[in-house]
Amino acid sequence: MRSTPIAVDGVSKVFGEDTSKPFQALKALDMHIEPGEFVSVVGPSGCGKSTLMLMIAGLLPATTGTLTVGDKRVKGPITDVGIAFQDHLLLEFRTAEKNVLLQGEIRKLDKAKVKARSDELFEQLRLNHAKTRYPRQLSGGMRQRVSLIRTLVHDPSVLLMDEPFGALDALTRLQVRTDLEALWLERRPTVVFITHSVEEAVGLSDRIFVMSPSPGEVVDEIVVDLPRPRPIVLGESPEFARYVERIYKQFQRMGVLHGIEIPA
Ligand code: ADP
Ligand code: MG
Repeated sequence: MRSTPIAVDGVSKVFGEDTSKPFQALKALDMHIEPGEFVSVVGPSGCGKSTLMLMIAGLLPATTGTLTVGDKRVKGPITDVGIAFQDHLLLEFRTAEKNVLLQGEIRKLDKAKVKARSDELFEQLRLNHAKTRYPRQLSGGMRQRVSLIRTLVHDPSVLLMDEPFGALDALTRLQVRTDLEALWLERRPTVVFITHSVEEAVGLSDRIFVMSPSPGEVVDEIVVDLPRPRPIVLGESPEFARYVERIYKQFQRMGVLHGIEIPA
């Protein structure tokens, strides 16, 4: 796996700049992400997390500042990337496997190679029985895991995930989180994982950027020094609880959370 750093330098976003009602979605952000690092961005709804991700992917231009992925300035859609959204975005008329193989078809990759990697990932995610099923014949968790396979099948060196587990129930979410960690440990792509779940961010990340309400800026940066692979149930570890608490305190301080007593 090629290791790819990501640099966000003075990046801000104003929507409708040339209108009478410009809207500042993001203040100037600086983020430096190491090759192979797993980073999360947590923040309240509307603080600009998706906007940031789209700018890193090169799908939305920044208003100021520069984005660099690997040794290249981002000027348009980047290609060595896997992108995952909350919605699994599987095509209903293709089986699970054919949805995954589409990634290779679009990128014109070697068919046998993509098929081999796809087989490996279906096996690892315990989904062999699902290959020939259509999305509507799969549970929500299975669909999201198929979508994860499609995101990973071309072995991207960068993974951008925007609340990918947002639509899943709590148990399935734990399972997919653990699966994602295992897959990441294996090939170590650089990951930017966007979530509003503090527990999920602490469970997965090497480092967490905490964002303020709109217009978003980074208010805290936390190195999560917990051994991997991390247990599926983390809540009982006092270190885990300390990280979670630190982030909730930030949200409380910024007025995102009210009426909740967080012990000092
Ligand atoms: P988050 O993902 O953190 O919930 P978003 O990045 O989706 O937040 O949005 C940040 C802010 O920018 C929101 O107030 C949203 O309404 C606004 N916004 C997002 N996209 C656009 C757009 N294309 N045009 C105008 N405003 C937008
Ligand atoms: Mg969003």
